[in-house]
Amino acid sequence: MMDVNQFKGHEQVVYLHDKKTGLKAFIAVHDTSLGPAAGGCRMWKYDTETDALNDALRLSRGMSHKNAVAGLKLGGGKAVIMGDPRADKSEELFRAFGRMINGLGGKYISAEDVGISVSDMEIVAEETPYVAGLDKGEHASGDPSPFTATGTYLGIKAAVKHKLGLDDVKGLTVAVQGVGHVGYYLCKHLHAAGAKLLVSDIDLDALKRVVDECDATVVGLDDILTADADVFAPCALGAIVNDDTIGQFKATIIAGAANNQLARDDHGQALMDRGILYAPDYVINAGGIINVAAETRGEYDEAWVNAKVDNIYNSLTTIFERSVSEKRPTNIIADELAAEIIEKARQEKA
Ligand code: NAD
Repeated sequence: MMDVNQFKGHEQVVYLHDKKTGLKAFIAVHDTSLGPAAGGCRMWKYDTETDALNDALRLSRGMSHKNAVAGLKLGGGKAVIMGDPRADKSEELFRAFGRMINGLGGKYISAEDVGISVSDMEIVAEETPYVAGLDKGEHASGDPSPFTATGTYLGIKAAVKHKLGLDDVKGLTVAVQGVGHVGYYLCKHLHAAGAKLLVSDIDLDALKRVVDECDATVVGLDDILTADADVFAPCALGAIVNDDTIGQFKATIIAGAANNQLARDDHGQALMDRGILYAPDYVINAGGIINVAAETRGEYDEAWVNAKVDNIYNSLTTIFERSVSEKRPTNIIADELAAEIIEKARQEKA
């Protein structure tokens, strides 16, 4: 059953059913106080339309928070296409989706997300200019992963400074779960800075690369959680902090790039109770969206991107310090900080 309270705070939600192509999609525009609502498009085999709508509502709200704390002049939005990404894609479907975005006149800017590739988005971009995150084109920003990794590395440094009082990661042990796009670049940063790396992945080639290039030590898929490390950096799966894992972590810092690391919001409090400092996921992993956002400003400006990515260190430090002084978990402080930034923009606009 749909809970109408889910719509709380959303400006506009659009549903499209294109009978010709079979496209069924929702676009949720959560907030445009800071600027156009930006957020990727997800394609997923949802069981019901309600599930798809709930996902769009939840994810678009998350994008408002992420874009606000990253200091971007962008609001939050998200699109979901109902369908199997392996079976239901067609050029016509993405064209119909592109026309749907275009109909919103720039209120929503899309990009790829789970189930959607850059090549799918290139078709969408033939129907609308309101697409970012492309490989080609005048202002294309390319692979966001190195920027996400740089921001995550700076976030780890901020956490290390706050929790351990150290200026760098030299001599510390970091357990990196998942050494794919982001995890690989993160390992490069950490290795160059003198950290010792413990890594896990299901992909043996990805592991070999970080063993060869970063002198990393491979540990088992479950052992990475309990590894004797100073920092646990989740860069693979969501919901890695859950009822089963919460008592297992030896690291006193959890700071990594994975999205939706807490299975539930109250796991933030549970980490705090255990003396574990948690770097809120959407704050520490914002490097990628910052890079994509550069496309929406017209000319791609690398100095602008780097300055915003560097600021992830300061944003996290603010959140950590506020968490201590207010005795409340970092994930809640991050949400409040985002809400304050959005509210300020709303009042300035009014
Ligand atoms: P990726 O798919 O390239 O890498 C994920 C890696 O995790 C893969 O190598 C995969 O084999 C591994 N993996 C899967 N299951 C695992 C398990 N059980 N244990 C250990 N490793 C496992 O993805 P990515 O682009 O590097 O993104 C990593 C995380 O960061 C994701 O949660 C993603 O949503 C998030 N994120 C990525 C970006 C970005 O710029 N790519 C931006 C923001 C957030």
